[in-house]
Amino acid sequence: MNLKKVRNIGISAHIDSGKTTLSERILFYTGRIHKIEEVRGGGDGATMDHMELEKERGITITSAATSVTWGDYSINLIDTPGHVDFTVEVERSLRVLDGAVLVLCSVGGVQAQSLTVDRQMRRYGVPRLAFINKMDRTGADPFSVMQQMRDKLNANAVMFQYPIGAGETFEGCVDLITGKAYYHEGAKGEKVIEKDCPEELKDEVAEKRQEMLEALSMFSDEMMEMLLSEEEVPSELVYKVAKEAIQSQSITPVYMGTALGNKGVQPLIDAVCEYLPSPLEREIKAKAFDNPEEEYPLEPDPKKPFVGMGFKLVEDAFGQLTYMRIYQGTIKKGETYYNQRTGRKERFSRIVRMHSDKREELDEAEAGDIVAIMGIDAASGDTYADAPKMCSLENIFVPEAVITVA
Ligand code: GDP
Repeated sequence: MNLKKVRNIGISAHIDSGKTTLSERILFYTGRIHKIEEVRGGGDGATMDHMELEKERGITITSAATSVTWGDYSINLIDTPGHVDFTVEVERSLRVLDGAVLVLCSVGGVQAQSLTVDRQMRRYGVPRLAFINKMDRTGADPFSVMQQMRDKLNANAVMFQYPIGAGETFEGCVDLITGKAYYHEGAKGEKVIEKDCPEELKDEVAEKRQEMLEALSMFSDEMMEMLLSEEEVPSELVYKVAKEAIQSQSITPVYMGTALGNKGVQPLIDAVCEYLPSPLEREIKAKAFDNPEEEYPLEPDPKKPFVGMGFKLVEDAFGQLTYMRIYQGTIKKGETYYNQRTGRKERFSRIVRMHSDKREELDEAEAGDIVAIMGIDAASGDTYADAPKMCSLENIFVPEAVITVA
């Protein structure tokens, strides 16, 4: 598994902002379109026939973590029950995320639960992208939503896309890095067409692009110098600086679209892959079993001794499923591992990856991944490892000390 191409992400939102709709769209697109270029180019790969659109209704998030692929990326979409503040359940699901998407309504803006979920993400050091949804609604105002993000969330919100229209006239967005406009065609806006930026928007787009570059240049002397000498900043440098600024939570980039109308969803998935961290880019520390004062970093290295945490237990027709994030090492089907809390040995007789429509049986799974183990006798939050009395992840809920962006 190429860990660089793994994304463990959650989607958080104030209720009714479109979290469920967006999640379903992500499952839908990732399940069917395999090359980002196909989408960007608006080629055949981005076109879905009527039958497939019909099937779309049947896709829902039914599991605590759903695995999808996007190009050569593997994305684990983790269900974050983010609207309740500070429950152990929320804490656990946040612990296993490497990044998140904060969904905001284009009319409602920053609402009560947006504050809660953003605070949780911040507390756990989870880098995030903002997606302003429902751009088709009357009164949609992404500029006002961005101002609210600054005022109420204290976020350094930076626009990465410029809207083409708003409300009923919303058509798509201009990418402020590439300067290309993305339109959506097809019965449900599912086909992405790339075009040049419309003439009448060129001035506003240039202005917003400049604002974006200035915001980013605060984190790069090289970019700052280029701007001062009015040199053209190459896209590669913009991507690199943006990635660092997002991962250190210095900025929150803003994307927009309509989950319901399928607009802006594919560019958002591209951004998740481009900017949010891989498991290699996050540092997680565990506490030594016999000395909670002693902390050591876990390395997402498949060759190291295994350490993982069961973060969610679900009972279904097949028995108990324990969703587990593997922080270090490799687990193999049929092998035994130690529950650090109880000291008991447990056989991982079945390891499965949960997809939206099927479960895939695995022979092994590596650090950085999220899988489900069937039939083990775990409690939520239990740490598992190769040997007994090694370490614990659960009792280390001192987030600032635990998760730092590498
Ligand atoms: P959640 O509570 O955040 O999971 O929100 P849902 O995904 O259930 O969406 C709430 C309502 O908003 C539903 O009626 C959706 O159909 C609707 N909705 C979701 N996305 C959009 C959108 O882009 N535009 C509009 N107009 N409505 C949307």
